[in-house]
Amino acid sequence: MALVEIGNLIKNSDNFAIVSHTSPDGDSIGSMLGLFSALKEIGKSADMFIDDPLPEKYSFLPGYKEVKNIDDAKDSYSCLIALDCGDLDRLGTCKRLISKADIIINIDHHVSNSLFGTVNIVDDAASSVGEILYQLFKINDLVVSKDTSLCLYTSLLTDTGGFKYSNTTSVTLSIAGDLINTGIDFSEVYNQVFDVKSINQVKLMSRVTSTLETHFSGKIAILILSRDMLDDCNAREDDASDFINIARDIAGVEVAFFVKEVDSTKCRVSLRSRQFVDVRKIAEIFGGGGHIRASGCTISGSVQEVKDIIINELKKVIGVGC
Ligand code: 5GP
Ligand code: MN
Repeated sequence: MALVEIGNLIKNSDNFAIVSHTSPDGDSIGSMLGLFSALKEIGKSADMFIDDPLPEKYSFLPGYKEVKNIDDAKDSYSCLIALDCGDLDRLGTCKRLISKADIIINIDHHVSNSLFGTVNIVDDAASSVGEILYQLFKINDLVVSKDTSLCLYTSLLTDTGGFKYSNTTSVTLSIAGDLINTGIDFSEVYNQVFDVKSINQVKLMSRVTSTLETHFSGKIAILILSRDMLDDCNAREDDASDFINIARDIAGVEVAFFVKEVDSTKCRVSLRSRQFVDVRKIAEIFGGGGHIRASGCTISGSVQEVKDIIINELKKVIGVGC
Protein backbone atom coordinates (compact mmCIF):
# COMPACT_ATOMS: atom_id res chain seq x y z
CA MET A 1 0.00 0.00 0.00
CA ALA A 2 1.23 3.50 -0.82
CA LEU A 3 2.56 5.81 1.88
CA VAL A 4 -0.33 8.28 1.37
CA GLU A 5 -2.94 5.58 1.98
CA ILE A 6 -1.11 4.38 5.11
CA GLY A 7 -0.98 8.02 6.24
CA ASN A 8 -4.75 8.33 5.81
CA LEU A 9 -5.26 5.11 7.72
CA ILE A 10 -3.19 6.51 10.58
CA LYS A 11 -4.96 9.89 10.52
CA ASN A 12 -8.34 8.13 10.67
CA SER A 13 -7.39 5.81 13.57
CA ASP A 14 -6.75 6.32 17.25
CA ASN A 15 -5.75 4.03 20.11
CA PHE A 16 -2.51 2.68 18.63
CA ALA A 17 -0.18 -0.05 19.84
CA ILE A 18 3.39 0.26 18.55
CA VAL A 19 5.56 -2.85 18.77
CA SER A 20 9.03 -3.88 17.68
CA HIS A 21 11.43 -6.80 17.93
CA THR A 22 13.09 -8.56 20.86
CA SER A 23 16.75 -7.69 21.57
CA PRO A 24 15.91 -4.10 20.59
CA ASP A 25 18.48 -2.06 18.68
CA GLY A 26 18.80 1.59 17.67
CA ASP A 27 16.44 1.25 14.72
CA SER A 28 13.67 -0.57 16.59
CA ILE A 29 13.84 1.88 19.50
CA GLY A 30 14.44 5.04 17.43
CA SER A 31 11.63 4.25 15.00
CA MET A 32 9.22 3.30 17.80
CA LEU A 33 9.89 6.48 19.80
CA GLY A 34 9.89 8.59 16.61
CA LEU A 35 6.49 7.26 15.59
CA PHE A 36 5.18 7.72 19.14
CA SER A 37 6.36 11.34 19.10
CA ALA A 38 4.77 12.01 15.69
CA LEU A 39 1.46 10.46 16.78
CA LYS A 40 1.45 12.59 19.92
CA GLU A 41 1.94 15.71 17.71
CA ILE A 42 -1.42 14.97 16.06
CA GLY A 43 -3.17 14.14 19.34
CA LYS A 44 -3.29 10.35 19.00
CA SER A 45 -3.09 7.95 21.91
CA ALA A 46 -0.48 5.20 21.62
CA ASP A 47 1.08 2.51 23.80
CA MET A 48 4.56 1.14 23.03
CA PHE A 49 5.76 -2.40 23.76
CA ILE A 50 9.03 -4.32 23.35
CA ASP A 51 9.54 -7.77 24.85
CA ASP A 52 13.11 -7.25 26.18
CA PRO A 53 14.52 -4.44 28.36
CA LEU A 54 15.74 -1.42 26.38
CA PRO A 55 19.52 -0.84 26.38
CA GLU A 56 20.35 1.98 28.78
CA LYS A 57 22.37 3.85 26.15
CA TYR A 58 19.15 4.93 24.40
CA SER A 59 17.75 6.53 27.57
CA PHE A 60 18.53 10.01 26.19
CA LEU A 61 15.72 9.56 23.64
CA PRO A 62 12.37 11.23 24.38
CA GLY A 63 9.71 8.67 25.33
CA TYR A 64 12.26 6.01 26.41
CA LYS A 65 10.57 5.60 29.81
CA GLU A 66 7.11 5.29 28.27
CA VAL A 67 7.68 1.88 26.69
CA LYS A 68 5.30 -0.44 28.55
CA ASN A 69 5.30 -3.96 29.81
CA ILE A 70 3.09 -6.28 27.75
CA ASP A 71 1.06 -7.08 30.88
CA ASP A 72 -0.11 -3.44 30.92
CA ALA A 73 -1.62 -3.64 27.42
CA LYS A 74 -5.26 -2.67 26.91
CA ASP A 75 -7.83 -5.28 25.89
CA SER A 76 -8.04 -3.89 22.37
CA TYR A 77 -6.38 -1.47 19.95
CA SER A 78 -7.80 -0.05 16.76
CA CYS A 79 -4.42 -0.15 15.05
CA LEU A 80 -1.18 -2.02 15.78
CA ILE A 81 1.97 -0.81 14.03
CA ALA A 82 4.87 -3.29 13.91
CA LEU A 83 8.29 -1.80 13.18
CA ASP A 84 11.50 -3.50 11.98
CA CYS A 85 10.04 -7.03 12.29
CA GLY A 86 10.58 -9.48 9.45
CA ASP A 87 8.04 -11.89 10.91
CA LEU A 88 5.65 -12.19 13.85
CA ASP A 89 8.01 -14.35 15.92
CA ARG A 90 10.36 -11.35 16.15
CA LEU A 91 7.78 -9.77 18.48
CA GLY A 92 8.39 -12.34 21.22
CA THR A 93 5.59 -12.17 23.79
CA CYS A 94 4.24 -8.97 22.15
CA LYS A 95 2.93 -11.28 19.41
CA ARG A 96 -0.21 -11.77 21.49
CA LEU A 97 -1.20 -8.15 20.82
CA ILE A 98 -1.86 -9.08 17.19
CA SER A 99 -5.23 -10.61 18.02
CA LYS A 100 -6.22 -7.48 20.00
CA ALA A 101 -5.95 -5.08 17.05
CA ASP A 102 -8.42 -4.33 14.24
CA ILE A 103 -5.72 -3.35 11.73
CA ILE A 104 -2.04 -4.35 11.59
CA ILE A 105 0.35 -1.99 9.81
CA ASN A 106 3.69 -3.69 9.14
CA ILE A 107 6.57 -1.28 8.42
CA ASP A 108 9.92 -2.93 7.74
CA HIS A 109 13.06 -3.02 5.60
CA HIS A 110 13.92 -6.75 5.66
CA VAL A 111 13.70 -8.32 2.20
CA SER A 112 12.36 -11.59 3.64
CA ASN A 113 9.41 -9.93 5.44
CA SER A 114 6.48 -12.37 5.70
CA LEU A 115 3.95 -9.56 4.99
CA PHE A 116 1.96 -10.40 8.13
CA GLY A 117 0.16 -7.05 8.22
CA THR A 118 -3.30 -6.07 7.07
CA VAL A 119 -1.23 -3.50 5.17
CA ASN A 120 2.51 -3.68 4.62
CA ILE A 121 5.25 -1.19 3.77
CA VAL A 122 8.39 -3.22 3.21
CA ASP A 123 11.20 -1.30 1.56
CA ASP A 124 14.45 -3.25 1.53
CA ALA A 125 16.22 -0.31 -0.16
CA ALA A 126 15.68 1.76 3.00
CA SER A 127 18.64 1.83 5.39
CA SER A 128 16.35 1.66 8.40
CA VAL A 129 12.72 1.81 9.45
CA GLY A 130 13.47 5.37 10.61
CA GLU A 131 14.12 6.27 6.96
CA ILE A 132 10.74 4.85 5.87
CA LEU A 133 8.93 6.67 8.70
CA TYR A 134 10.51 9.99 7.73
CA GLN A 135 9.17 9.56 4.19
CA LEU A 136 5.77 8.52 5.54
CA PHE A 137 5.56 11.61 7.76
CA LYS A 138 6.73 14.02 5.05
CA ILE A 139 4.41 12.76 2.32
CA ASN A 140 1.46 13.02 4.71
CA ASP A 141 2.36 16.49 6.04
CA LEU A 142 2.88 15.18 9.57
CA VAL A 143 5.07 17.36 11.79
CA VAL A 144 8.65 16.09 12.19
CA SER A 145 9.54 17.87 15.43
CA LYS A 146 12.97 18.08 17.00
CA ASP A 147 12.05 15.20 19.35
CA THR A 148 10.84 13.06 16.45
CA SER A 149 14.00 13.93 14.50
CA LEU A 150 16.27 12.89 17.36
CA CYS A 151 14.64 9.45 17.42
CA LEU A 152 14.63 8.96 13.64
CA TYR A 153 18.24 10.16 13.34
CA THR A 154 19.20 7.49 15.90
CA SER A 155 17.51 4.87 13.70
CA LEU A 156 19.41 5.94 10.60
CA LEU A 157 22.72 6.33 12.40
CA THR A 158 22.66 2.93 14.13
CA ASP A 159 21.37 0.76 11.26
CA THR A 160 24.04 2.22 8.94
CA GLY A 161 26.82 1.81 11.52
CA GLY A 162 27.38 5.58 11.55
CA PHE A 163 26.59 6.01 7.81
CA LYS A 164 29.36 3.64 6.76
CA TYR A 165 27.58 0.42 5.74
CA SER A 166 26.62 -0.23 2.14
CA ASN A 167 22.92 0.25 2.99
CA THR A 168 23.64 4.01 3.26
CA THR A 169 22.29 5.84 0.19
CA SER A 170 22.05 9.44 -0.93
CA VAL A 171 18.43 9.33 0.29
CA THR A 172 19.64 8.27 3.76
CA LEU A 173 22.14 11.11 3.90
CA SER A 174 19.65 13.66 2.57
CA ILE A 175 17.12 12.63 5.26
CA ALA A 176 19.85 12.75 7.90
CA GLY A 177 20.56 16.32 6.73
CA ASP A 178 16.88 17.28 7.08
CA LEU A 179 16.82 15.79 10.58
CA ILE A 180 19.99 17.66 11.58
CA ASN A 181 18.38 20.88 10.36
CA THR A 182 15.83 20.64 13.19
CA GLY A 183 18.71 21.45 15.56
CA ILE A 184 19.36 18.07 17.15
CA ASP A 185 22.73 17.50 18.78
CA PHE A 186 23.82 14.82 16.27
CA SER A 187 27.35 14.67 17.62
CA GLU A 188 26.03 13.77 21.06
CA VAL A 189 23.82 11.02 19.54
CA TYR A 190 26.94 9.44 18.02
CA ASN A 191 28.73 9.76 21.32
CA GLN A 192 25.90 8.10 23.27
CA VAL A 193 25.26 5.20 20.91
CA PHE A 194 28.78 4.35 19.74
CA ASP A 195 31.36 5.82 22.10
CA VAL A 196 30.20 5.83 25.73
CA LYS A 197 30.78 2.54 27.55
CA SER A 198 30.25 1.49 31.13
CA ILE A 199 33.19 0.05 33.01
CA ASN A 200 31.35 -3.30 33.14
CA GLN A 201 31.03 -3.23 29.38
CA VAL A 202 34.76 -2.71 28.94
CA LYS A 203 35.43 -5.60 31.34
CA LEU A 204 33.01 -7.76 29.38
CA MET A 205 34.70 -6.77 26.11
CA SER A 206 37.99 -7.98 27.48
CA ARG A 207 36.45 -11.37 28.41
CA VAL A 208 34.69 -11.76 25.08
CA THR A 209 37.66 -10.75 22.90
CA SER A 210 39.81 -13.29 24.74
CA THR A 211 37.59 -16.01 23.18
CA LEU A 212 38.52 -14.92 19.64
CA GLU A 213 39.13 -17.78 17.22
CA THR A 214 39.80 -17.65 13.51
CA HIS A 215 39.25 -20.41 10.96
CA PHE A 216 39.69 -20.96 7.22
CA SER A 217 42.95 -19.00 6.98
CA GLY A 218 41.53 -16.09 8.93
CA LYS A 219 38.38 -15.66 6.81
CA ILE A 220 36.09 -16.58 9.72
CA ALA A 221 36.30 -14.94 13.14
CA ILE A 222 34.30 -16.17 16.13
CA LEU A 223 33.49 -14.64 19.52
CA ILE A 224 31.69 -16.26 22.45
CA LEU A 225 29.60 -14.79 25.27
CA SER A 226 28.69 -17.12 28.15
CA ARG A 227 26.26 -16.47 31.00
CA ASP A 228 29.21 -16.74 33.40
CA MET A 229 30.93 -13.79 31.71
CA LEU A 230 27.79 -11.68 32.12
CA ASP A 231 27.51 -12.64 35.79
CA ASP A 232 31.22 -12.03 36.46
CA CYS A 233 31.08 -8.57 34.87
CA ASN A 234 27.62 -7.70 36.21
CA ALA A 235 26.58 -6.96 32.64
CA ARG A 236 23.62 -7.64 30.33
CA GLU A 237 23.59 -9.25 26.89
CA ASP A 238 22.84 -5.92 25.23
CA ASP A 239 26.12 -4.58 26.63
CA ALA A 240 27.79 -6.89 24.12
CA SER A 241 25.66 -6.00 21.08
CA ASP A 242 28.47 -4.19 19.21
CA PHE A 243 31.30 -6.61 20.01
CA ILE A 244 30.67 -8.54 16.81
CA ASN A 245 32.17 -5.57 14.93
CA ILE A 246 35.54 -6.22 16.59
CA ALA A 247 35.67 -9.64 14.92
CA ARG A 248 34.30 -8.40 11.60
CA ASP A 249 36.87 -5.60 11.41
CA ILE A 250 39.90 -7.89 11.59
CA ALA A 251 41.86 -7.68 8.33
CA GLY A 252 41.11 -10.62 6.06
CA VAL A 253 37.86 -11.63 7.82
CA GLU A 254 34.90 -12.26 5.50
CA VAL A 255 32.40 -13.61 8.07
CA ALA A 256 32.30 -12.94 11.79
CA PHE A 257 29.85 -14.61 14.09
CA PHE A 258 29.10 -14.22 17.77
CA VAL A 259 27.59 -17.04 19.83
CA LYS A 260 25.70 -15.75 22.88
CA GLU A 261 24.58 -18.33 25.42
CA VAL A 262 20.91 -17.85 26.37
CA ASP A 263 20.88 -20.86 28.72
CA SER A 264 22.36 -24.36 28.70
CA THR A 265 19.99 -25.43 25.89
CA LYS A 266 20.23 -22.62 23.33
CA CYS A 267 22.31 -19.72 21.97
CA ARG A 268 21.61 -16.56 20.01
CA VAL A 269 23.91 -16.02 17.06
CA SER A 270 24.83 -12.75 15.33
CA LEU A 271 26.43 -12.98 11.90
CA ARG A 272 28.21 -10.28 9.86
CA SER A 273 29.95 -10.42 6.50
CA ARG A 274 32.14 -7.95 4.67
CA GLN A 275 31.82 -8.49 0.92
CA PHE A 276 30.67 -11.82 -0.44
CA VAL A 277 28.76 -14.12 1.89
CA ASP A 278 24.98 -13.70 2.27
CA VAL A 279 24.67 -14.29 6.03
CA ARG A 280 20.87 -13.89 5.89
CA LYS A 281 20.72 -17.23 4.08
CA ILE A 282 22.71 -18.87 6.87
CA ALA A 283 20.47 -17.39 9.59
CA GLU A 284 17.38 -18.49 7.66
CA ILE A 285 18.50 -22.15 7.80
CA PHE A 286 17.88 -21.90 11.56
CA GLY A 287 14.63 -19.91 11.40
CA GLY A 288 16.30 -16.48 11.75
CA GLY A 289 16.84 -13.73 9.23
CA GLY A 290 18.11 -10.19 8.71
CA HIS A 291 20.12 -8.66 5.88
CA ILE A 292 22.87 -9.84 3.50
CA ARG A 293 25.64 -8.37 5.67
CA ALA A 294 24.00 -8.64 9.13
CA SER A 295 21.71 -11.39 10.38
CA GLY A 296 20.81 -13.38 13.46
CA CYS A 297 19.12 -16.55 14.68
CA THR A 298 18.61 -18.72 17.77
CA ILE A 299 19.91 -22.31 17.71
CA SER A 300 19.42 -25.17 20.19
CA GLY A 301 22.60 -26.53 21.72
CA SER A 302 25.54 -25.59 23.90
CA VAL A 303 27.94 -22.81 22.90
CA GLN A 304 30.39 -25.38 21.49
CA GLU A 305 27.68 -27.23 19.55
CA VAL A 306 26.24 -24.06 18.07
CA LYS A 307 29.70 -22.83 17.12
CA ASP A 308 30.37 -26.10 15.27
CA ILE A 309 26.97 -25.95 13.54
CA ILE A 310 27.72 -22.50 12.10
CA ILE A 311 31.30 -23.41 11.14
CA ASN A 312 29.86 -26.37 9.28
CA GLU A 313 27.48 -24.15 7.30
CA LEU A 314 30.22 -21.62 6.55
CA LYS A 315 32.45 -24.43 5.26
CA LYS A 316 29.98 -24.75 2.36
CA VAL A 317 30.24 -21.09 1.31
CA ILE A 318 33.73 -19.99 2.26
CA GLY A 319 36.08 -20.53 -0.64
CA VAL A 320 33.21 -20.18 -3.12
CA GLY A 321 33.96 -16.72 -4.53
CA CYS A 322 35.84 -15.49 -1.48
P1 5GP B 1 21.81 -8.68 15.52
O1 5GP B 1 22.91 -9.63 15.21
O2 5GP B 1 22.33 -7.29 15.67
O3 5GP B 1 20.92 -9.13 16.63
O4 5GP B 1 20.86 -8.66 14.22
C1 5GP B 1 21.34 -8.35 12.94
C2 5GP B 1 20.18 -8.31 11.96
O5 5GP B 1 19.55 -9.59 11.91
C3 5GP B 1 19.06 -7.32 12.32
O6 5GP B 1 18.52 -6.83 11.10
C4 5GP B 1 18.03 -8.18 13.01
O7 5GP B 1 16.77 -7.64 12.87
C5 5GP B 1 18.18 -9.51 12.29
N1 5GP B 1 17.92 -10.63 13.20
C6 5GP B 1 18.61 -10.94 14.32
N2 5GP B 1 18.10 -12.03 14.92
C7 5GP B 1 17.07 -12.45 14.14
C8 5GP B 1 16.12 -13.52 14.24
O8 5GP B 1 16.14 -14.35 15.16
N3 5GP B 1 15.17 -13.58 13.24
C9 5GP B 1 15.13 -12.68 12.21
N4 5GP B 1 14.16 -12.82 11.28
N5 5GP B 1 16.00 -11.67 12.10
C10 5GP B 1 16.96 -11.54 13.05
MN1 MN C 1 16.34 -2.06 11.17
